[in-house]
Amino acid sequence: MKDPILEHAPALASPMVPQPIMIRRAIWETDDTFTLTLDMNDWKGDYAFLPGQFNMVYVHGLGEVAVSISSDPGKRSTLEHTIHRVGLVTTALAQKKKGDYVGLRGPFGSSWPVDVARGKDVCIVSGGIGLAPLRPIIYTMLHHRSDYGRIIVMYGGRSPLDLLYRVELEKWDNNHDIETLVTVDRGDTSWKGYIGVVTTLFNYIKLEARDTIAYVCGPELMMRYTVDELVTRGLPPEQVYLSMERNMKCAIGFCGHCQMGPTFICKEGPVYQLPRIRPLMDKKEL
Ligand SMILES: Cc1cc2nc3c(=O)[nH]c(=O)nc-3n(C[C@H](O)[C@H](O)[C@H](O)COP(=O)(O)OP(=O)(O)OC[C@H]3O[C@@H](n4cnc5c(N)ncnc54)[C@H](O)[C@@H]3O)c2cc1C
Repeated sequence: MKDPILEHAPALASPMVPQPIMIRRAIWETDDTFTLTLDMNDWKGDYAFLPGQFNMVYVHGLGEVAVSISSDPGKRSTLEHTIHRVGLVTTALAQKKKGDYVGLRGPFGSSWPVDVARGKDVCIVSGGIGLAPLRPIIYTMLHHRSDYGRIIVMYGGRSPLDLLYRVELEKWDNNHDIETLVTVDRGDTSWKGYIGVVTTLFNYIKLEARDTIAYVCGPELMMRYTVDELVTRGLPPEQVYLSMERNMKCAIGFCGHCQMGPTFICKEGPVYQLPRIRPLMDKKEL
């Protein structure tokens, strides 16, 4: 049977109309998080994204969700989304398999500024699903490894079984001169790594603060503690970037669902320089 989403295929690319895209691969990363590899060969028009940008992913008849792009921006024929199953749409996406279709529109939003880190050290701090939007920066920097100084990746998860991209993390550490520090809130008998929240990892590295650019993504509480730790360690706030998340609908700055005070996260964000967003993070119910 023809997938219902194909019946609604748009004649032309439009930022408001999802295009039908086939799933080439669906794999589980953890018990509740999976990665969909999408076949972009059928995309009408040009598709290119920058690290940190997101798409709106549509399940026919159910709705759309914002999902960061977690793959290598250098790869044009496929696109990856790593998705945490939390509610209606993400549960429906979790049931999709190879050959099924989803609707896609994007890419949207601001991106991690990669060029500002040339010649400098890089500190990437992530928690939980927050590693997904940061993975494209890692790929981008690996394509030009010698342009950067130290690359430090700090990653925290709830337990060893909740960690994303474990094989890749090891590979980056072993083959690409990336200092990878991984911690979990609760270890198990097999876990030989760090235990504690992600900010405890700062005790095991020394940053050349003035020469480091930091990129942070994870739960908002984790980001608050992390950016405060970075600034306390001497990083100028303008050298710290973070990605914000709010419930999103239109993704192009019309509907206001993702408004956070004076900013629409879908348009000005999701990636912000710290001085712009830090005062808003302290305001209740924004
Ligand atoms: C820019 C951006 C990038 C994102 N990237 C990813 C990603 O890479 N992977 C991923 O798994 N998720 C990502 N998300 C979050 C994702 O959009 C939500 O988890 C999703 O919308 C939930 O939809 P649902 O229909 O499954 O859940 P619903 O049934 O809508 O809700 C389930 C629960 O999640 C809450 N919720 C829904 N949306 C959000 C949200 N955006 N922020 C906070 N709480 C929310 C609801 O209040 C409810 O408690 C991103 C969100 C944004 C704004």
